[in-house]
Amino acid sequence: MTHRPIGQINYDNRDRVVLVSGGASGIGLAICESFAESSARVLCMDIDHAAAKALPAAIEFIQGDTSREADCQAAVEHAVELWGGLDVLVNNAAIQPKASYVPLDQLDAELWQQMVAVNLSGYSFLAKHAVRIMLAQHSGVIVNMASGQAHRTARQVPSYGPLKAANVLQSMQWGIEYARQGIRVVSVSPGAIDTPLVRASLEAQGGERELANRHPLGRIGRAAEVAAAVLWLSSSAASFVTATDLAVDGGLGAMGAFADPYPIDTLREDT
Ligand code: NAD
Repeated sequence: MTHRPIGQINYDNRDRVVLVSGGASGIGLAICESFAESSARVLCMDIDHAAAKALPAAIEFIQGDTSREADCQAAVEHAVELWGGLDVLVNNAAIQPKASYVPLDQLDAELWQQMVAVNLSGYSFLAKHAVRIMLAQHSGVIVNMASGQAHRTARQVPSYGPLKAANVLQSMQWGIEYARQGIRVVSVSPGAIDTPLVRASLEAQGGERELANRHPLGRIGRAAEVAAAVLWLSSSAASFVTATDLAVDGGLGAMGAFADPYPIDTLREDT
């Protein structure tokens, strides 16, 4: 087998100010790290103060709960105080508690409200305050972390999937609203990505090999691969991309439920 060049992108995010919610773990952490590696100034907002202790020194941290508008406003203000502006907001913090995996008729009302508060209102609160800064600058990019579950569904996810679909529409609506004022808004829809959130539900999903095999590329994704999509969407290379969604899902979304499953012995760890 010959090894052909696969291409390489080097980002330069020098002096750009980036705010990432839920940046202390999983996909959010990979996004913080990728921006920091490309010299951006990164502020991670997370509810989990303890997890934040493991953040690389280059990443600033502010504790906050995205479901509280005052915390969102404080995070945006902190970024501006530190560095004088805000260039990229990544709405990433979301929850999918185990107790939410039930049919609708068994869904606890308090849990529903909590998921709406974090997964939907949290995105709006942070964007509302970020947009005010971006309007004054006449520039900015907002990336909403959605999910493959925004586009197709399964049994026993009466809240997570519908709220993820709303995240896609938030991007489209805000993208349209602010298109003439220099602000781009997009969403990203990952397939299964190797993070603590997915590890916690691996067994319920049939185990790692089974979940990997449902993805045409033959493996689950890496958090760094979602971060790479966020960096591209936030960059000047994506200057004509707004009010749309990008699937980062190893082909999962294209695979019909009627399609023959891949033989399990064709799994690819090396891609
Ligand atoms: P994760 O659980 O590993 O990390 C989520 C982070 O958000 C944690 O650090 C947590 O402390 C923080 N957080 C939770 N509630 C918060 C709040 N109210 N305020 C501030 N921070 C809060 O999750 P992940 O797997 O990295 O997922 C990140 C995003 O990607 C989510 O939006 C999730 O829905 C989406 N997503 C994940 C996958 C996947 O396979 N992992 C697939 C599709 C979409």
